[in-house]
Amino acid sequence: MILEFTKENIEFCAKKLKNGDIVSFPTETVYGLGANALNENAVKEIYRLKGRPSINPLIVHIYDINQIDEFCILESFQKEFLEKLKVFWPGPLSLVLPKKNIIPEIVSAGKPSVAIRMPKHEIALSLFKETNLPIAAPSANISGFLSPTTAYHVDEAFKKFDVPVLNGGSCNVGLESTVLSLLKETPIILRHGFITKEKIEKVLGIEIIDGTQNKNTLPKDILSPGMLLKHYSPHTPLYLTSEKLPKSKNAAYISFKNNEGEIQDNLKNKFKTIEFLTSNKETIAKNLFYILHKLDRMNFDYIVIDSCDNEGLGLAIMDRVTRATNK
Ligand code: AMP
Ligand code: MG
Repeated sequence: MILEFTKENIEFCAKKLKNGDIVSFPTETVYGLGANALNENAVKEIYRLKGRPSINPLIVHIYDINQIDEFCILESFQKEFLEKLKVFWPGPLSLVLPKKNIIPEIVSAGKPSVAIRMPKHEIALSLFKETNLPIAAPSANISGFLSPTTAYHVDEAFKKFDVPVLNGGSCNVGLESTVLSLLKETPIILRHGFITKEKIEKVLGIEIIDGTQNKNTLPKDILSPGMLLKHYSPHTPLYLTSEKLPKSKNAAYISFKNNEGEIQDNLKNKFKTIEFLTSNKETIAKNLFYILHKLDRMNFDYIVIDSCDNEGLGLAIMDRVTRATNK
């Protein structure tokens, strides 16, 4: 059930959350599937609806930075990091901090830490404020499949459960938040996103660790087992241009070029459809899941996708692309 952004619908959805029900809402990254983070049964329902493995912890969403004290116990170095990193809030950055017992273990998948984020979206923030609760919310997709960037993606995935979806149009960022662990005195990036390592280092004035490289060497208390899972895949097989492709011509190509004039002639005849995501990384990020959802509904035998460099936002884009192509 898709609901437009009105005062009545915010009140309706807030009431649902307070009653222990599930509601989907837009954020600037992707749509979330939310429940009252303090209600174990409501959070359990999120795992059930998504088919999410219980080892994969959820992000707790807040609307006011002062809520952190209710849910986390911070040491002085963590307070100093937070003071600087709050320039990114509200925004696409989730911070992993030591949790208080008030946050149930099911939210953090048994870990003593919790990921906290304040999204930059009027609908999400109005909803959270109306509930005055912390909202545990993963992306509103069936576990392992493409993340949703429109209300229609969510509605399609969860129709049979009749989940109310607040409609905020297309998400501006289009990729999930950067996840940054502040548990040790050197922060560690656990997932790349729109807020890049370079941006974080500039604000903190120190070098931080890219924990997505050599995940196996990270301390167990930092690593989230969920980060090792397959993710973000369309139903249609997806290939990188460098891979050996099937013979069929019933295929689509996602190009990181601006238009037809920039691609080789032989590619034009090889595919039924070519989508141009442009060469601008922010535009690629914003439209990546949208285009994959669109092509996934068109019954192609396979889809081929370009690669970009690993500079800045390129890391987050290629993380999603390579996970999606893992067959
Ligand atoms: P999603 O909700 O699908 O955007 O995924 C959230 C990601 O944040 C998960 O894949 C987790 O690995 C990560 N995460 C959440 N909480 C923690 C935590 N306490 N420690 C480490 N990673 C976390
Ligand atoms: Mg997700």
